[in-house]
Amino acid sequence: MKKKEKPNNNNSKDNDFIKNLIISILIVICLIAAFAIYYFNVNKVKNEEKELDYTEFITSINEDSIEKIKMTTGSSTLTVTMVGEGEEKDREKTVIVPSIQAFMEWIQEKIDKEGVSIELIQVPVNPILKISDTLFSLLPTILLIVLMVMIIKMQGFGGDSGKVYGGEDGSKKTDVRFDDIAGLDEEKAELVEIVDFLKSPKSYLDMGAKIPRGILLYGKPGTGKTLIAKAIAGEAGVPFISMSGSEFIEMFAGLGASRVRRLFDRAKKLSPCIVFIDEIDAIGSRRATNSGAETENNQTLNQLLVEMDGFESNETVIVLAATNRPEMLDKALLRPGRFDRQVTIPAPDLNGRESILKLHSKNKKFAQDVDFKDIAGDTAGFTGAELANLLNEAAIIATRNKHEEITNNDIENAVKKITVGLEKTNRVVSDKDKRLTAYHEAGHAVVSKFLPTQTNVKEISIIPRGLAGGYTMYKTNEDKYYVSKTELLEKMVALMGGRAAEQVALNEISTGASNDLEVATGIAKDMLTVYGMDEKIGPLSIKVDDPYEIQLFGDKITDAVGNEIQVLIDNAYKTAQEILIANRDILDRVAERLLEKEKITSEEFEEFFK
Ligand code: ATP
Repeated sequence: MKKKEKPNNNNSKDNDFIKNLIISILIVICLIAAFAIYYFNVNKVKNEEKELDYTEFITSINEDSIEKIKMTTGSSTLTVTMVGEGEEKDREKTVIVPSIQAFMEWIQEKIDKEGVSIELIQVPVNPILKISDTLFSLLPTILLIVLMVMIIKMQGFGGDSGKVYGGEDGSKKTDVRFDDIAGLDEEKAELVEIVDFLKSPKSYLDMGAKIPRGILLYGKPGTGKTLIAKAIAGEAGVPFISMSGSEFIEMFAGLGASRVRRLFDRAKKLSPCIVFIDEIDAIGSRRATNSGAETENNQTLNQLLVEMDGFESNETVIVLAATNRPEMLDKALLRPGRFDRQVTIPAPDLNGRESILKLHSKNKKFAQDVDFKDIAGDTAGFTGAELANLLNEAAIIATRNKHEEITNNDIENAVKKITVGLEKTNRVVSDKDKRLTAYHEAGHAVVSKFLPTQTNVKEISIIPRGLAGGYTMYKTNEDKYYVSKTELLEKMVALMGGRAAEQVALNEISTGASNDLEVATGIAKDMLTVYGMDEKIGPLSIKVDDPYEIQLFGDKITDAVGNEIQVLIDNAYKTAQEILIANRDILDRVAERLLEKEKITSEEFEEFFK
């Protein structure tokens, strides 16, 4: 496997972060020290000397009981020495004067005119105390500034926008090539043209052709959108700048638009290059005019549109953006000159999965029995990222089992771990729960055997895995683009098989069916509101989660949807019960075998029907 490329500015960002952290820590230490010195000195004065009340002090002056007054510039606290016997230090007291200037004028007059004998001494300010005093008074301001600087740094206000591969600073170019992407042949063919544009923009411009500005990649997470964008930059040998939509919009408003501007300024300097914006829906969702967050979004999106419109013809910057929610995007993004090309990146089909598995198997050792075509058959719906993860999990399982090579069994275990969860062999399960699970799983398996559209059972188990007490795995069908109404109805019957078996065999129902009910209800809801498959409701598409849309249809339709969902589920449950009652002996035998062996393979299961 390829080593993960690291953009060079990650390092400098890390260094900046450490530098900022050290500076912040030093500032905090200085402030604490200043506070400590200040506190210590103030307390020292307070503790060592007794305080004198101001009126007492004035009376003492009038009674000639004061020998000396020491004052520090700028301080309203005076140290006075009382007349008397003993050490001078012991006779010292402190007094706080309300107005030092008024007091000075008064005492001076008393000394000059009335001949009062008091020694006035001006004490120089203690420099340490003065510094710490100043620092302490500035403490709130300094803290505020430090905090603001840190927040601004965190927001990347001063730094560059986006990660760069292959910039002028000598950072490493992306070394991903089209060969590193398995499957997706049509999509690659469509994008080869972009590589050519980037390699020799002049020949296209000379011919009067306009360079495409933006390409939107639609697809589920993990289907390889980022990989394709990197491969285009890699094939063309141009820099690749990437940023995620959510990075534009973070804690503070107003930064999104400036980040977009900086990202594009940077891209123009590096032209020809690729700018990749992942999760563009975070900034590119339909503009609204109401809330504050929306306004921030709007500004960021508007800036993006301005930047995309503002390229000079000699600036070969191609913007690739990825989303898995195309329906959310603002229509303005899709106008000519912006993201006017859209490429759908699908989850891989059977052949695609096989080639992705082969590609990711290169640096791993596999046993003879491993057949990637079979694994591809068992992993319908897996994305490229999930397949890469599957082989990694298999390698971990093989290592844990001390195998020399990754075996087919290791891979099958990895599939189960990913789809159902980890096997919990140590979990203590009561006999009653085991019996319930055995009937529940046997119910699913037996019912599905009588439903022509459902795939064959692959394995039944009552060993807990993940959150499930047991599971029934089915063989996967070859990838299909469409699912028929009959298939959906029968899928609901198979899902109801678990609950129905509990009722039929044990005359009791349990919480174990909650997930089945959730999935079945979801199918019924989609049949009625997404696929328009119900005669009573008609071929309507009703967005039930959208309160505005649901209002459109009024109570009559929404009530009917609710009723029909119930009818579909009830019918599915009844059919499952009927199948199980008619085949009660098989149900009992499968459940008993499960209790005895804990796991039944596909072949063993088929034996019950011979
Ligand atoms: P997201 O939407 O979550 O950002 P994505 O569609 O951008 O996901 P990538 O990040 O490109 O997906 O893919 C993740 C990883 O999955 C890749 O690094 C690669 O290892 C693997 N992968 C995905 N698709 C393919 C493919 N067609 N061929 C080979 N590897 C693939």
